[in-house]
Amino acid sequence: MTGSSDEDTPACQACEDPVTQNGERRVVSIVENGEAVHYEFCSVDCRESWDGSTSRYSNN
Ligand SMILES: [Zn+2]
Repeated sequence: MTGSSDEDTPACQACEDPVTQNGERRVVSIVENGEAVHYEFCSVDCRESWDGSTSRYSNN
């Protein structure tokens, strides 16, 4: 990865692509450990493919 200047662009929770405002952006807000957490998705497909798991550290 190169150091691009899109720090304001969140990464899709499902595919990790940059979530752009002009796409089919979806935001899911859940409460996790007493804190509101917002998950961004680049499309409805990614939103629906997400199983709700917040763990990105799976043991392969
Ligand atoms: Zn995505």
